[in-house]
Amino acid sequence: MALLRFNIVKRLFWRKRGIFALKLLFFTVSVLIFCEFIIYYIVIIQCHWPQLKAPRAIELTSDSVLKAMFIADTHLLGEINGHWLDKLRREWQMERAFQTSLWLLQPEIVFILGDVFDEGKWSSSQAWSDDVRRFLKMFRHPVQTEIMVIVGNHDIGFHYEMTAFKLERFSKVFNFASGKIVTRKGVNFIMVNSVALEGDGCSICRTAEARLAQLSHKLNCSLREGIQHKERCSDADKIPASVPILLQHYPLYRRSDSNCTGEDSAPLDKKNDLFREKYDVLSQEASQKLLWWFQPRLILSGHTHSACEVLHNGKIPEISVPSFSWRNRNNPSFILGTLTSTDFSLDKCFLPYENTVITLYCTAGAVLMVFILARLQLLVSPFRFVQHLITKYKAL
Ligand SMILES: [Zn+2]
Repeated sequence: MALLRFNIVKRLFWRKRGIFALKLLFFTVSVLIFCEFIIYYIVIIQCHWPQLKAPRAIELTSDSVLKAMFIADTHLLGEINGHWLDKLRREWQMERAFQTSLWLLQPEIVFILGDVFDEGKWSSSQAWSDDVRRFLKMFRHPVQTEIMVIVGNHDIGFHYEMTAFKLERFSKVFNFASGKIVTRKGVNFIMVNSVALEGDGCSICRTAEARLAQLSHKLNCSLREGIQHKERCSDADKIPASVPILLQHYPLYRRSDSNCTGEDSAPLDKKNDLFREKYDVLSQEASQKLLWWFQPRLILSGHTHSACEVLHNGKIPEISVPSFSWRNRNNPSFILGTLTSTDFSLDKCFLPYENTVITLYCTAGAVLMVFILARLQLLVSPFRFVQHLITKYKAL
C-alpha cells in the first residue's frame, strides 16, 4: 500500500515537472517565432506605396504606374571577414525582411544598388559561387517580380583593384552592364558602373564612358523633336520619351553629409567628415558629366550606408539609400517608389530595429529565469516576504 502511494506521488511529481517544462518550451518557441518571423510582418505591414500627386485629368492605370523597390548595401559576408554566426544572423534577417516585403508589398521590380557582397572584390571562384548561391536563395522571388542589381566597389573592388575578370563574373550572374537602360512601363532607368567613372582612361572606364555617352545621345533623341534632331538621330534606337532615373552605387559628389537629416542619416560625429572623391563619392568631374549627359529627374545611390537627400543644380534630387543589413545599421530600410514616365513619389519603409529584438530576447530571458527560480523555490514571493517581515516585527 505504502509502495503504491509512493509510486502515485512520484508519478504526479514527474507529470508536474513535465507540464512545467512544456510551458517553458512553449514560451521560448513563441518568443523565437515572434522575433524571427512575426515582427517582420507587424513592422512592414505599416509601409504603403506612396501616392502620386498627379493632376486629376491624367488617368493613372496599373499599366502606367510602376511599383519599384530600392535596396542598397546588403554586404553578404564572405569567407574571410565573416564569422559564421554573424553571417547566419544577418542573412536570416535580410531574407526574412525581403521575403516579407515581397509578400506584403508585391513590387514589380526591385533594384539593389550595389555592394551586394562584402568580399566580391577578392573572393576565390569557390567563395564567389557560394556567395551567389546564398544570394539567390535569400532574394528568391516570383516570376512577376524582377530583380536588377547594380555593381558596387565591394562586388568588384575599388577602381585600383577592379579587373575585367571580376566585372565579367558579376555581369554574367546579374546580367549587368554599365550604361544599360531598363525601360518598364515607359520609365527609363539607367544603370551605371560608378566604380568605372575614375576618369583615368583605363580600358573598363573608357568602355563604360563610351556606352554612357552613346546612351545619352539616344535619350536626347527620344526627348527632342524637330528636323535638325531627326537628321542627327536617324541612327538612334527608339527609347520611350521619358527623362531617365539614374541608378548607381557611389553618390554624386557632395562635400559631406552635414546637411543630411532624419533618424537614419549619418551619426553626428561623422556628419562633418569630408568625403573623398572617387572613394566616398564620385569625383566632381564625373558627377558633372552624368548630370550633363542625362539631366535625370531622380538619382538613387548607396555606398554611404546612411540616408540623405541632396538637390543637384537646385532641381535634381538624389536619394542616398541606407544599408539593408543590420550589420551596418540598427534601423535598416528600403525605398518604395511609385513611378510613371513623368512623375514619381518615394517613401521609406523601415525594418524592425535590432535593439527592439534584442530587448525582447533579454526580457523573455529574464522572465524565463524568474519562472525557473520560482519553481525551484529559490525566489521568495513578495507576499511571503512581507508576511515574513510582519511576523518578525510582531515577535520583536
Ligand atoms: Zn560601397
